[in-house]
Amino acid sequence: MRRLTGGGIWNSGRCVVTGSVENKVVIVTGAGRGIGAGIAANLVENGAKVVIADLNEETARQTAAKISTGDGDAIAVGVDVSDRQSVQELIARTVEHFGRLDVMFNNAGISQTCPFLEVTDDDFDRIMRINGRGVLIGTQEAAKQMIAQGTGGKIVNTASIAGKQGYPLFAHYCASKFAVVALTQAAARSLAEHKITVNCFGPGVVKTELWEQLDREFMDHGLTAKPEQAINEFSQSILLGRVSLPADISGVTTFLASAASDYITGQTIMVDGGMVLI
Ligand code: NAD
Repeated sequence: MRRLTGGGIWNSGRCVVTGSVENKVVIVTGAGRGIGAGIAANLVENGAKVVIADLNEETARQTAAKISTGDGDAIAVGVDVSDRQSVQELIARTVEHFGRLDVMFNNAGISQTCPFLEVTDDDFDRIMRINGRGVLIGTQEAAKQMIAQGTGGKIVNTASIAGKQGYPLFAHYCASKFAVVALTQAAARSLAEHKITVNCFGPGVVKTELWEQLDREFMDHGLTAKPEQAINEFSQSILLGRVSLPADISGVTTFLASAASDYITGQTIMVDGGMVLI
């Protein structure tokens, strides 16, 4: 048996891919709760060193304390992903603390339910600023650090089923997630020469506080009558027959951070229980 540089193992002439993230330094934005906290927890379980970055510093600290094994493997940093200087400071803090940056998860995002004709200019700008511009800034700033290190790296962006199809009650959110897919493809083409891969993953319906907020908005617009009606109705088309939890996503995200995904770039991996088949 001999180890391969990419993290695989030759075993009796067969390559068994292990895809370790051990000791990789990873930033996860929006990791104070929800999907981001799940991504971070799985990475720490697999030996990565993780920066829990969130607009809400308090929840970031709570998540870091909860998932850390006590080995200094998770720290919390406050960040606003839509503010370039704030993201630059996040990366500087990461490098100061852990010495480098190997993987960047641009996961922070917001959503809003609104009938198509009622979406305002401010609604559109707010969602594009965080979900769209935030991913542009996070990708650019992480890539600059990785290029300076000369070690290559991985950038993983959170897209959505809304990055593959337009839904009438989520027009501006869909526009922002199509933007995430577009930025991922453009960055993959731009950064390949620096051995940086850029991919995204597309969750479907994940039971987080984001959906609690959407559920309330459906009722406020008079679109549903009772709590959980919106999430239940929206989930009817899930082939696997249930909504997901962050733990359903985090195996794929750790794979995308690991050496096992080294030959994948520019892709959107759907993790939606079969809602969108393209
Ligand atoms: P969530 O609302 O539970 O968590 C989002 C986190 O991002 C929060 O901790 C929040 O404080 C943080 N955040 C918001 N704005 C920020 C900013 N400007 N800078 C830094 N942090 C900020 O949401 P979630 O369900 O965990 O969603 C995470 C990502 O997954 C988002 O990009 C979302 O669009 C995407 N997504 C969610 C679902 C779902 O069904 N929940 C489905 C598809 C995609």
